[in-house]
Amino acid sequence: CSATQDEVTKAKLAQPNKPTIFSKILDKTIPADILYEDEKCIAFSDVTPQAPVHFLVIPRKPIPGISEAHQEDEQLLGHLLLVAKKVALEKKLDNGYRLVINNGPDGSQSVYHLHIHVLGGRQMEWPPG
Ligand code: IMP
Repeated sequence: CSATQDEVTKAKLAQPNKPTIFSKILDKTIPADILYEDEKCIAFSDVTPQAPVHFLVIPRKPIPGISEAHQEDEQLLGHLLLVAKKVALEKKLDNGYRLVINNGPDGSQSVYHLHIHVLGGRQMEWPPG
């Protein structure tokens, strides 16, 4: 579909290693629908939802992507997953949901600040596009 194509185009044009729009969400210079925040991470609604519920969980630490995470980030990565499932529960995704991490050009990553997508509220398909 064209929305998917737009995402792929954005991913191809994305520039790794530059400050991203998510830094501005973190420092609150641009607004976001923040669902959860603590000293390590925030969760906010995706601006272009791909499911009835679609939010992102991001670390405050600007790790560009999962391929740039290191051993020292082990606890932080675990924390992000636990926050993802906590907010999913708050969003009443009792019947299941999907977590996604896109990485790099082939993964269609468009924002180079690590984020976990949480998608739910409809039946997910497999394989993803
Ligand atoms: P990626 O393709 O995995 O890098 O996902 C980036 C996601 O960030 C996409 O789903 C976008 O819709 C989302 N996004 C981009 N800018 C914003 C924003 O300003 N607020 C909320 N979500 C955003």
